[in-house]
Amino acid sequence: MNAVDRYSCEEVFRRLNDYLDRELSPAEMALVQEHLDTCAQCAGEHAFEASVLRELKAKLRRIDVPQSLIAKIDAILSDPGHREEE
Ligand SMILES: [Zn+2]
Repeated sequence: MNAVDRYSCEEVFRRLNDYLDRELSPAEMALVQEHLDTCAQCAGEHAFEASVLRELKAKLRRIDVPQSLIAKIDAILSDPGHREEE
């Protein structure tokens, strides 16, 4: 038995979050990718987790940026001549 050769569903499941965050080694990324290509169940789980993560990150980004900062950035962007002078 060569356990290193391929990941089981459980192994992929455990690495899914790290895979989504791209925190695995290139070799691990490739093994997870290979499993996702051949396993509909894990591919579905991956798609679900990816969409949840995307929504979560979008929400966090919205919360992180205060309206006053957005207004400031907006003002700078709409005024190309703007320079910080002090
Ligand atoms: Zn699987």
